[in-house]
Amino acid sequence: MAQESPILLAGTVLLMTKAKNETTEQRENRLNWWKKHHALHLEEDNAKSRQRDQNIKILVLSHYSTENTPICARCGIVDIDVLAIDHIMNNGNSHRRLLGIGAHLYGWLKRNNYPEGYQVLCMNCNWKKRIQGGL
Ligand SMILES: [Zn+2]
Repeated sequence: MAQESPILLAGTVLLMTKAKNETTEQRENRLNWWKKHHALHLEEDNAKSRQRDQNIKILVLSHYSTENTPICARCGIVDIDVLAIDHIMNNGNSHRRLLGIGAHLYGWLKRNNYPEGYQVLCMNCNWKKRIQGGL
């Protein structure tokens, strides 16, 4: 019977099958094959990972924007590279400590059916909100 062990490389879960009674040499060969595969496909795996993160960001920002397209709630800029989720009640620090940043927050919002209390702001408007005491 084979035993599967998930290995996480560059955000990709690879299933490595371990044969029963595998020798040390066989294990080293198997691990070397995976390392070589990973090195050959590193750029491709990273690109796929970035595209997945970007897709979920667009999906979540679209949900929290008007007209179902990512847009800053204050100034109206639509450049996805400068848009981010803003915690309307300024409780982002505690949330970030719990979830991390970026893709983790977007995934959490999607999995939790887009809870209220969030909006889309660009970095400038987010910074200005902070300077104005969170208003
Ligand atoms: Zn803005």
